[in-house]
Amino acid sequence: MSPERLTPLDSVALAGESHKGADDAAGLATRLDRYSRAHHRALDMADYAKKHNHVKEAQGLSKCGHYLLFRDYYKIGKVRLKAADFCRRHLLCPLCAIRRGAKLVQAYQERLQVVQEKQSGLQAYLVTLTVKNGEDLAERFEHIRSSMNRMTQARRDYLKGGKHAGPHIEMAKAVGYVGSFEFKRGAGSGEWHPHAHMVWLCREAPDAAKLSREWLNLTGDSFIVDVRPFHNQEDITSGFLEVFKYAVKFSDLPLEDNWHGYEVLKARRLIFSGGAFYGIELPDRLEDEPLDDQPFIELLYRFARGAGYELISTSEPRQSDKARAQKELEHEEEELGAGQGQARKPQRSGAEAFIGEHRTGEHLAERTLDANQATHAPGTWGGVGFLTPPQMPHGECGVWGRAPEGTSQSP
Ligand SMILES: [Zn+2]
Repeated sequence: MSPERLTPLDSVALAGESHKGADDAAGLATRLDRYSRAHHRALDMADYAKKHNHVKEAQGLSKCGHYLLFRDYYKIGKVRLKAADFCRRHLLCPLCAIRRGAKLVQAYQERLQVVQEKQSGLQAYLVTLTVKNGEDLAERFEHIRSSMNRMTQARRDYLKGGKHAGPHIEMAKAVGYVGSFEFKRGAGSGEWHPHAHMVWLCREAPDAAKLSREWLNLTGDSFIVDVRPFHNQEDITSGFLEVFKYAVKFSDLPLEDNWHGYEVLKARRLIFSGGAFYGIELPDRLEDEPLDDQPFIELLYRFARGAGYELISTSEPRQSDKARAQKELEHEEEELGAGQGQARKPQRSGAEAFIGEHRTGEHLAERTLDANQATHAPGTWGGVGFLTPPQMPHGECGVWGRAPEGTSQSP
């Protein structure tokens, strides 16, 4: 059993998802285990939401990652996630939190590389700031957010220079910064513990003692700061993991606290950045980037409560998307040459069609599987033109569970 299995879903899970070989075929079992723990938690959260009449959230959490469609690029030993019907409520759903966090880590690493190529002599630091604990999460969030805003404004005021420039502030040493707000809840006191983790990219080391005085000035209630230098690139990655684990950390909270955190913070911006790290977009899609020039096999996994993910179908080997597109183009040109040209819809693979048919269906919320009800065996279905796996007739979610309450089409 890997150490990851023994730990909660936190920065370790995010590190597993973010490292360079995360899509190696050899790591698929560990990856499925990670997703399985995430989906188990999402289902517990769904049960909680349903019990409290939050139907929309309950449905989203239940279906998110209920199926996972991978593409196994067997020639190069890579496996990438093609589809999963993500709910995108990353403060409630650890699967979405891990996927989103990993995409952010990747995006900031790429920007870091560009910045370092252009500017030499930059050193990265992990800077942590906290404010006093409190019972009211919304009030504490507003407090740390506004204090942080004042600090970034003071940085801008100093950096604009000229006679109207503000006084020097330690944060002005950061050529670029990215940070997030994270919240824990004390087991004994029950008070919320807000803090901000940031990566600062500096030419000159920040002075922790000065920073502490400045932070006390800005917050009025806290001088607690921590400044840690990174010694190599690997370390900086761990800094990004620290910053972007904030949403994954919500799954460490009891369900009730997690829900409260979601309600209070869902419309707030919990990530901030500036300088050389300004303007990096939040990830639009949570799926992996496909490898268009590689042939693949599609693997369809289904989640069973208590058992985790089980392989239910494997496709025949398929041509790369590029080769297929080329073939289709040639075919269309032939048809046009014969005067029969008609626009054709791009074909979906069988597994994509299967997920599409079962996407957003309300009955999915009712279809959390019990391990002992899942009586399927892994099977194979055909190449282009294959559709629903034989053990899953259309409109049914398979051989298990209750009868559907509606059709599988979205309303
Ligand atoms: Zn989700």
